[in-house]
Formats: sequence, structure tokens, C-alpha cells
Amino acid sequence: MSVETNKQPADGTHSGPAPLIRLEQVTKRFGDNTVLDHLDFSVDAGRHVTLIGPSGSGKTTILRLLMTLAKPDEGTITVDGEQLFPASEKQIREVRKKIGMVFQQFNLFPNMSVLRNVTEAPVTVLGLSKDEAEARARELLDLVGLADKCDAKPSQLSGGQQQRVAIARALAMRPQVLLLDEVTSALDPELVAGVLDVLRDIARSTDITMLCVTHEMNFARDISDQVLMFDSGRVIESGPPEKIFGDADHERTREFLSAVL
Ligand code: ADP
Repeated sequence: MSVETNKQPADGTHSGPAPLIRLEQVTKRFGDNTVLDHLDFSVDAGRHVTLIGPSGSGKTTILRLLMTLAKPDEGTITVDGEQLFPASEKQIREVRKKIGMVFQQFNLFPNMSVLRNVTEAPVTVLGLSKDEAEARARELLDLVGLADKCDAKPSQLSGGQQQRVAIARALAMRPQVLLLDEVTSALDPELVAGVLDVLRDIARSTDITMLCVTHEMNFARDISDQVLMFDSGRVIESGPPEKIFGDADHERTREFLSAVL
């Protein structure tokens, strides 16, 4: 699986490649509730970044903004050099093609086979032929350990298997970025490890950029290049996993980790 090289920004303000994702001074409010407060961060292509922090600190909202499922009140967001807000419908569609998202709930199409769940969007959105889409889907279902379930319906699979189909479905669009929103939270505990193993594999064997919201701290430690600790809509601390999990600067980070680890 390949990730395109980043474009240089048009204004030439950076000497190196532009980050694939950039949030600048992003503020999001719901009524009086300021959920993201002048947030800045960026993610370079191919990096694996994990967002951790207490419930309600704004992590999922960031993924939703990137998917254009919500709009910021202030600030700018760019993906691969394209600004998201304001953007035309066509620009939004183009940006969405670059991003795959896997949610807590798997949201598979219940009446379609596993294979068809994975081929549907590549055929209808990307215009792949059925044969091309099926070949790619079989490869991906093999990657997530479900090569033998192509003809099954989602209801015949365990939650963990359904989530692995959802991961294959997201990858089938050949996104540059994979957004993962607490993808194991809805699973029975015994099914969590299988899904995390698949994601570890993808992180190791592909050059896809990953942005994960997770409460699975061992997973975050294993796959992350960078961990961002959120509190009340701000990043209070960020760094490599060894630093955040081993020697965090902030008392709030240490408190949070001691409560969840
Ligand atoms: P996290 O992912 O860190 O748990 P969220 O981004 O889901 O946090 O939520 C941050 C805050 O935004 C919470 O206080 C939540 O109640 C609020 N929020 C999220 N989505 C909405 C919405 N659609 N309407 C109103 N409030 C929302």
C-alpha cells in the first residue's frame, strides 16, 4: 500500500514537505461548551499519532472535523495541502477520498456479503471495475485474517471480525490517512486483541498515516510515533510514547495514566 508524496504548499513557507494534516488555532464550540480551544497540531505523512486523554476532552471531535462531519468555529484545517473549511463540495469529496475512518460501531451494510461490503465504495466512488475491486478486497480480507469469510453476512461474524471487515473496507479506498475512533470500545474483551493485532500489523507493514483515539494504552505505546495528551480541548503534552508513558512532564498526564493503566 503506498502513500503519495506530500505536495509542497503553494506559498512555499516550508522548506521540507508539508505535514499531511495540519490544524491551526482550531476552536470548536457546542453552545457554551468550548470543546477545542485554539488547537494546533500537525501530522507528517506516514506517522502514527495517538490521541489520549479523559472522556469529553475533544479527541473524537478532531476526527469528525477531519472527516468533515463537523465544522470548526475558528481556525484552519488542511489535509494534503487542501484547506477543508471553507471548501467546495467537490474539494470536500476529494479530501474525503484521502481519509478512511473506522468507528466504534462497525456500521457494515447488513444485507451485503463481507466481500461486497469491501468492494462497494471502490466500485461506486472510485470507479474500479468489479474484478479489480474484488482482487483488492480479497487481499485486504486476507490481511485482516478473514480470507475465508468473503461470502458471510456481517450478522454471521463476531464483533471483532466485523470490526476487521470495517478496517478492510476503509483500506480498500486506498486512503492516505486512517482515522481510528476507539475501535475496540464496543467489543467484548476477548475480541479486542485480535483487532489490535491487525492494526499493529497494518502500522508495521504499510506506510499509511494513522491518527488513533484509543484507551488501549499498550497499543498506543506499541504503534505510536507520537502521543498527544488532551485535556479540556487542548494538547497539554505531546511526545514519543517512551516519554509520555515513562516520564510525562505534566501531573495531569501522570494522573490520567495511573487511572487507566
Ligand atoms: P472525547 O472523544 O475526548 O471523549 P468528544 O470529542 O467526543 O470527546 O466530546 C467533547 C465534548 O463535546 C463533550 O463535552 C461532548 O459532550 C461534546 N459534544 C460532542 N459532540 C457534540 C454534539 N454533536 N453536540 C453537542 N455536544 C457535543
